Amino acid sequence: MNISVETSRLPMPKPEDDSKLGFGKVFTDHMFLMDYDAAENWHDPRIVPFQGITLHPAATALHYGQEIFEGMKAYRGVDGKLRLFRPDENAKRLNASAERLCMPTIPVEDQLQVYRAIADMEREWAPSRIGTALYLRPTMIGTGQEIGVHPSSRYLFFVICCSVGSYFKGGLTPVDIYVEDKYVRAVRGGLGVAKTGGNYAASLKASHEASSSGYAQVLWLDGVERRYIEEVGAMNIMFIIDGKLVTPELSGSILPGITRKSVIELARDMGLTVEERKVDIDEVMQAGRDGRLTEAFGTGTAAVISPVGSLLYKGEEVVINNRAIGSFAQQFYDEIVGMQFGKVADKHGWTVELQQ
Ligand SMILES: *Cc1c(COP(=O)(O)O)cnc(C)c1O
Repeated sequence: MNISVETSRLPMPKPEDDSKLGFGKVFTDHMFLMDYDAAENWHDPRIVPFQGITLHPAATALHYGQEIFEGMKAYRGVDGKLRLFRPDENAKRLNASAERLCMPTIPVEDQLQVYRAIADMEREWAPSRIGTALYLRPTMIGTGQEIGVHPSSRYLFFVICCSVGSYFKGGLTPVDIYVEDKYVRAVRGGLGVAKTGGNYAASLKASHEASSSGYAQVLWLDGVERRYIEEVGAMNIMFIIDGKLVTPELSGSILPGITRKSVIELARDMGLTVEERKVDIDEVMQAGRDGRLTEAFGTGTAAVISPVGSLLYKGEEVVINNRAIGSFAQQFYDEIVGMQFGKVADKHGWTVELQQ
C-alpha cells in the first residue's frame, strides 16, 4: 500500500506532565484515513493533519450502527523504543468484526502497515512513564448515502491516536464490581463477539446506575438465564478458584480479548490449570463465601489487569483477597507490562518493535 503523507503545519504542544494524562482526551497531530467503495475497493490511504470528518446525514453508521473499532497501544520502552503488542491479533479481530456486521475486511498486512506508519508518525506523542502509551483507535464506519436498511455501499476506515495515562485513576488498585441482574449487554448470536459501538450503547445505562451507587464496573451475566458470567465493562474476567484459573468460555456473546488470550497462555506456561468454561455466578459467590475464591481480575488493553476487590450480587457482597492485589494478578501484570516496555524477554514474539 502506498500511503500518502500530509504533515501538519500547526503541530500541537505535547502534554508536559505524563502523570496527568487521562484516557482518550489528548489527540495527536495526524490521523490515517482510507476509503472503500465496491468499484475501487479500499483506496486513497493517507495520513493527514488531525481534523473533523464530513458525513452525509444519511450515513449508514448513524442510522443502523455499522461501526466497528479496535484499541491498541504503542509503548515507549525503557530502551526508548516503541513497541506494539500483538497488533496482528487486533487486525484479525477487526476483520472478524467486519464480517459480522457485513463490512469489508482489510488485509492483515495492510492494517499492520497502517498501524506502524501512524505510530511512527506520532512517536513524539508516546509518553514514557510505565502505564502510559500512545493509544491507537482504528475505526470503520458505513458512509453510504441512502436511508434504507442494507449494508452500506461505502466505508471509511480511520485511525486516530491519543497520548494516554492509566485507564483507571487508581491504577492496579482493586475495584468494586456490581453484578448486573437486570440489564444485559449481548446475547449469543448477537453482536457480543464483535467490537462494535452498539454493545457499548447497550451497556451505558447499567454502568451509569452502578457508578452512581459507587461501583466502578458492571459484571455482565448471560442474556438468556442471567446466570453465567460473561465479562466486566470493557474487559474479560478471570477468577482464581481452588488454585485454578477459571474464565468464561468464548460462548458467542463475549469479546475475545487479546489480553485474555495472552494471560491464558502465560498461565499455562506457569503450570497453572486453566478452565475455560461456563461460570455460574452462584458458584463464584459460594467460592467467595467459602474462601476458595482467592482472586478475581479483569483483563484488557486499557488497564492490562484490573483486580476486583468485591462483588455485589443481589444485595450480598463478597470481598476478595481483603481488597488487596492478588499474587497472580500481579505476576500477569508484571509479565505483560514488562514485555510491552522492553524490560522482560519476549519469549512468545508478541511485541513488534517500530523503527527508530
Ligand atoms: C476490547 C474489549 C475487551 C478487551 O480486549 P483486549 O483485546 O484484551 O483489549 C473486552 N471486552 C470488550 C467488550 C471489549 O470491547
